Amino acid sequence: MLTGMYDDKAPLALSGEQMRRLGYAATDFLADRIERLGDQPVTAEWSRADLEDKLREAIPTAGTDPEKVLERVVSDVLSACAATDHPRFFSFVPSPGNYVAAVADFLASGANVFAGNWVGGAGAAQVELVVIEWLRELFGLPAAAGGILTTGGTQASLLALHAARTKRFGGVAPQARIYVTHQTHAAVVRGFSYLGFGADQIRRVRCAPDLTMDADALRQAIIADRAAGTAPFFAVATAGTTNTGAIDPLAAIADVCSEQDVWFHVDAAYGGAAILTDQGRQLLRGLERADSIAVDPHKWWFQPYEAGCVLVRDVDVLSDAFALHAEYLTENRAATRPVNFYDYGPQLTRSFRALKLWMTLQTFGLDAVRAGVAHGMDMAEYAESLLLRTPYWQIVSPAQLSVLTFRPHHPGLDAATLDEVTRRIAAAMMKQGFALVLTTDLGDGPVLRFCSTHPQTTRADVETTVELLTRFLRETVDKLAV
Ligand SMILES: *Cc1c(COP(=O)(O)O)cnc(C)c1O
Repeated sequence: MLTGMYDDKAPLALSGEQMRRLGYAATDFLADRIERLGDQPVTAEWSRADLEDKLREAIPTAGTDPEKVLERVVSDVLSACAATDHPRFFSFVPSPGNYVAAVADFLASGANVFAGNWVGGAGAAQVELVVIEWLRELFGLPAAAGGILTTGGTQASLLALHAARTKRFGGVAPQARIYVTHQTHAAVVRGFSYLGFGADQIRRVRCAPDLTMDADALRQAIIADRAAGTAPFFAVATAGTTNTGAIDPLAAIADVCSEQDVWFHVDAAYGGAAILTDQGRQLLRGLERADSIAVDPHKWWFQPYEAGCVLVRDVDVLSDAFALHAEYLTENRAATRPVNFYDYGPQLTRSFRALKLWMTLQTFGLDAVRAGVAHGMDMAEYAESLLLRTPYWQIVSPAQLSVLTFRPHHPGLDAATLDEVTRRIAAAMMKQGFALVLTTDLGDGPVLRFCSTHPQTTRADVETTVELLTRFLRETVDKLAV
């Protein structure tokens, strides 16, 4: 059968009919999955040995029917992945995507859009400019601000750091000092060494009891470091820590940074979306004074991985650090006011990430995203109110944004036993699979952590989850008390 220019013996090509069948089958799978997600367990345990059995094999030299391959993907691969987009996935930062965004990724891949330059993808660049402009406005940054979509929040913060360092020092600078707290995201701190910062260049600023940065301590650290002959230049405030949702005092930190001539970076990877709600806008006051902001659309903006974003108050600082001048890219400067996104970040070849956020907003509108964010905050508060109704729990940090931490309360048990109970509850939740609630450690042993960002989490989901937690708590205590 002839299909367009190629017959069906053409290498690496499917016939038109095969393409449609495969695409429809994939769509059927996804639509069923999304519709039924709430009736399924969130997670299960997968053994390495099982997966090796199913998947380890020699490279297939001859091909197979694509629909058979799809069946295998569904049964052997996707079935062994936790659903971070499940309405009862309450661990880490959940990632409720949306179908429209998935279609956008499919289109971007299917048309293989090159989002690195204007010649390769002017339409893509323009959509990215529009999306960046929307985010810039939402965060209250001036018109000179701009940014770029990144692989995620870590990369977003690291791009800001690289740009700030290039502006200040022109390159690697052993005297440069960075300020973080012990609640700054570990992946961001890990990335500093990737940019060539040594451990001696990173200062951990003291936190207040609510685990937010003490702005006075920041000021004192900067002054002391300068007096010692080093060069304080970059402070990382977190707007919504991953551990507890705590928001560093942004306005006070902005004051210190402007007074001390230090770059004010805000890691809003998790919490930035709260800017959409009235309550969140109050909590995030001062964010609009940032020199740069890291945001993660693949967290609370309902986007599938990967989608991060860095916004920089003066976008020229970003392009001064990243502008690329390869010999074979000369014609890229020729169009009328072309924007080549490879000039704003480390990737030359890059995928069209902006399309998913753009299509999501076009399809559902900002108000739906706003309602989704507000719902996540409500569900965390609801979980807190339910836990407080029983005598079995102690709230460690109240619902902040959409994160709540808590631990068992039992006057008869010592701290080590309560730690053990806490770990066992998380293990029991994971084994049982109805909802995922795991632990974190705020420096004083394990605590349970609940993070709700899914717009379709129901009150009943939260009620049953809290009932299960309480049941596992009581069973564990009974067992240990014997
Ligand atoms: C998730 C998170 C990060 C890391 O973002 P990635 O997208 O995983 O790279 C950084 N900071 C905070 C506050 C986060 O919640």
